[in-house]
Amino acid sequence: MRILLIGSGGREHALALGLAASPDVTLIAAPGNPGIAEVAELRPVEATNPDAVAALAVEVGADLVVVGPEAPLVAGVADAVRAKGIACFGPTAAAARLEGSKTFAKEVMAAAGVPTGGAVSTTDPAQVAAALDRFGAPYVVKDDGLAAGKGVLVTDDRDAALAHAAACERVVIEEYLDGPEVSLFVVTDGETAVPLLPAQDFKRVGEGDTGPNTGGMGAYAPLPWAPPSLVDDVLARVVHPTLAEMRRRGTPFAGLLYVGLALTRGGPKVIEFNARFGDPETQVVLALLETPLAEVLRAAATGSLAAVPPLRWKPGAAVTVVVASAGYPSSSRSGDVITGVSGAGFIHAGTARAAGGELVTAGGRVLSVTATGADLSVARDAAYALVDQVSLADAVIRRDIALAAVEGRIRVPS
Ligand code: AMP
Repeated sequence: MRILLIGSGGREHALALGLAASPDVTLIAAPGNPGIAEVAELRPVEATNPDAVAALAVEVGADLVVVGPEAPLVAGVADAVRAKGIACFGPTAAAARLEGSKTFAKEVMAAAGVPTGGAVSTTDPAQVAAALDRFGAPYVVKDDGLAAGKGVLVTDDRDAALAHAAACERVVIEEYLDGPEVSLFVVTDGETAVPLLPAQDFKRVGEGDTGPNTGGMGAYAPLPWAPPSLVDDVLARVVHPTLAEMRRRGTPFAGLLYVGLALTRGGPKVIEFNARFGDPETQVVLALLETPLAEVLRAAATGSLAAVPPLRWKPGAAVTVVVASAGYPSSSRSGDVITGVSGAGFIHAGTARAAGGELVTAGGRVLSVTATGADLSVARDAAYALVDQVSLADAVIRRDIALAAVEGRIRVPS
């Protein structure tokens, strides 16, 4: 099977490792990164240009295209690939609106009866102020459109909330959802839904969940503190009603439905939907998947997921710790030399090869250092031992990834 993987981040390196593990898979990645280059042939492409991606899929003789990031999906890459008669893992542009517009996602959730926070979608500053006062602090202000995970501000500072809203065109003001967060990935062909292991990521840059939001500073899976009924509950109350509503609208959602949840006193509530694998949760979830990833994604892309046997998982846990470049997330520094990256577990996110062949930074999140272990504590120690092998000037690294879970400090309100 010839697979074309679109994207260039840590998520795509994790997907590449999973796909390339099948001996019958030939992997081509575009544009890829230096880590992905170790398991795939790299081709240049403008990933958000549907015609360019579709033409490349034809040129390389792809049997399956797997789209990693959200921007190509929202731009219609999956539609263009399918129009060439090639199977594609990733939703249509119409279905990707579940991520592309927070207002649309809220409409679908309301129609499907999915539990989520109350929200007001508006472009009017007076309505923004009224909604902030109605919901009260902490204030949750979300840019309606795609913002690479950084369009959300959660703050007790009303002026900062107003300023963030003013900087967005359309904004969603939302009720604050209090409780531990869970990321649940669901592979779907539009009808059948196959959940992966629940994971937790760390959005804030600072230890103890302080500072601004980032693309994600680390993750772990599975969640030792999660209620045993969580996945079935979310499938029944969130995933199946949402998939049914998308079918009813004539825009079935096939691909990866990422359900971001808060486990509140009132039960699990949806914080957000994404239309693709999350980064960095993918790194830990796929590190534990034993079933060949290529088989699962191909089945979802060809409407045959019901025939796939139950997924098999490795025992134990996985932890990933992001190493970011100087200044992240307010800025980033490219061209800094990175050393100590050798062996398994070093997932590349924002790296490049300098002219002399050295590995250098090429963006904010540089590496996603991933390890597995017999339990969360062992996996965590292994991940930080790998992090400590890396040398990068002024690196931004959180030292408390998975720590509260290891210490048994996470409580689900009841
Ligand atoms: P999102 O991009 O929607 O996932 O938001 C980024 C982060 O902001 C989430 O992972 C949460 O930590 C936080 N967040 C978003 N919406 C809410 C909410 N309604 N209540 C509490 N925290 C939220």
